[in-house]
Amino acid sequence: MSTPISEIQALTAKAFRTPEKFTAFCRNGGKPLGGIINGEQVKGTMNVTFETVDPGSQEVLATVCEMGEAEVARAVSAAQRAFQGDGGPGWRSVDVEKRIALCQKLVELCERDRDVLLACEVLDGGKVSELAEGDFDQLRNCMEYFAGVARKIPLGDGPSTIISETVNGFAYREPWGVVAGIIPWNYPIVLTSWFMFPALLSGNTILIKPAEDTPLSALYIGKLAQEAGFPPGVINVLPGRGEITGQCIAEHPGVRYIAFTGSPGVGHLIMRVCDRHGTRMKREMGGNGSAIVLADADPKMVARLIGRHTNQHYGQTCCTIHRIFVDRKIADDFIDAETEFFKNLKIGYQADAGTQLGAVINPTQRRRILQAQQETVARGGTALLAGGEASVAGKTGFYVKPALYRTEPGHNVNPQEVFHCYATICPVSSAEEALQLANSSPYGLGASIWTKDVQKGVALAKQFRDGTAQVNCHNMVSYGLPYGGQGISGGPGGGVNCEETFTDYTQVKSVYVGNYPA
Ligand code: NAD
Repeated sequence: MSTPISEIQALTAKAFRTPEKFTAFCRNGGKPLGGIINGEQVKGTMNVTFETVDPGSQEVLATVCEMGEAEVARAVSAAQRAFQGDGGPGWRSVDVEKRIALCQKLVELCERDRDVLLACEVLDGGKVSELAEGDFDQLRNCMEYFAGVARKIPLGDGPSTIISETVNGFAYREPWGVVAGIIPWNYPIVLTSWFMFPALLSGNTILIKPAEDTPLSALYIGKLAQEAGFPPGVINVLPGRGEITGQCIAEHPGVRYIAFTGSPGVGHLIMRVCDRHGTRMKREMGGNGSAIVLADADPKMVARLIGRHTNQHYGQTCCTIHRIFVDRKIADDFIDAETEFFKNLKIGYQADAGTQLGAVINPTQRRRILQAQQETVARGGTALLAGGEASVAGKTGFYVKPALYRTEPGHNVNPQEVFHCYATICPVSSAEEALQLANSSPYGLGASIWTKDVQKGVALAKQFRDGTAQVNCHNMVSYGLPYGGQGISGGPGGGVNCEETFTDYTQVKSVYVGNYPA
């Protein structure tokens, strides 16, 4: 049965009550929350702390210790010892079934404390419950998928090949050793899972560097990892600012591989550091996604579906839609319907029932978004909804109104990723014109075609340069299919969530074996 058009809604909040266990975790017995190194909470030798706040209320949730050069060095040593083994078998040689069992146990503990981790997403990350609940499910989904991959892809010696009469050779696959995941603030649990499970299940020991705006879920997962029985040093969590903690991780020669998710600017910066040290790196970065609506689509329905995607996490979703190209024949109806959808989004506090558009993550983001709204008009966009600051009674969060613009081909009004409920609508005369405009962006993460003619849609979708091309859907992620970007949206590696992701966390050597010369 299809959903009536009026029931296609933006992701919406249920009322969320802060669990006592979350409050106790944040309070940490009156001490700032430390990083987790070698299975212990560590204060940090810099004696620097930072506050993590609820973006919808600016209430301080917890005080967190920043990890500096000394802590990064300590974490790398602990992870190296855990990898190699310190008097016993190291994580590298632990049987794959034992690794899987520990990861399963960790997920079970996360599920036991689901309300605490949801509180991290809702209160620290500023999300509505409908999104936070879906994100939470990725912990199990991701672990189970990579457990299957770990059972399927053998590490160690590959088949032997005869090279010559006296020499044989084979490929030898092994984990890198110490690998680091540098995580952004918009999907803390999802992106920690996407890094943590393939990295651990392929035999690496890990450093998790959460974003400074959302450190709580990674710290809580790190705490549960100790309870699950992970050997000390296998999972280390290093909170702190990017330019301090993140930079120290990138600079440390003991880190063999870095999985970075974040903005293209920071990704390129870290890549240059990695190049200096010979550290391998994969990069999953920002997007400026597009949608093309063909003339046979129902403008009212598709406008609502696209609106729902555009507002996923208030537009703070890397692959979502910010550029819409719609056939001129239906453009006026589409624009009216999209304007109505955006205008009626319920702005509010993310933990209050009914909220669809909560606060953005921090004041810097709010400033950037407001500036981008002004620049869109300066570049020739006609405001259908002008955006601007919003307010929510009784809350002092970082609220911004949705923004929607009409534009014409040839006006490049939104060249940058604008991380908000923000979109431009450009009427076009043909699908080919739309494709050419959609592909003219330097980003290439997610794009979609909307049409009743699915076959035609598939043929057009394959012509997007983006790493994820979709027909009549958007923001799709599925285990088994790669999720990665082209252009400035991605870097080397097979993307995330596929078998190649698992092998990205391993290195391959060629081993040649000759007979001893007679
Ligand atoms: P960001 O690039 O500012 O920060 C990402 C991480 O890098 C944070 O942990 C930060 O502390 C760290 N960092 C910052 N400077 C650093 C430095 N000099 N050295 C080492 N680490 C440093 O990104 P953000 O604002 O946190 O996140 C939003 C961005 O992430 C958007 O561009 C979004 O599209 C992108 N993103 C991409 C994906 C994807 O899968 N492609 C997923 C989510 C988010």
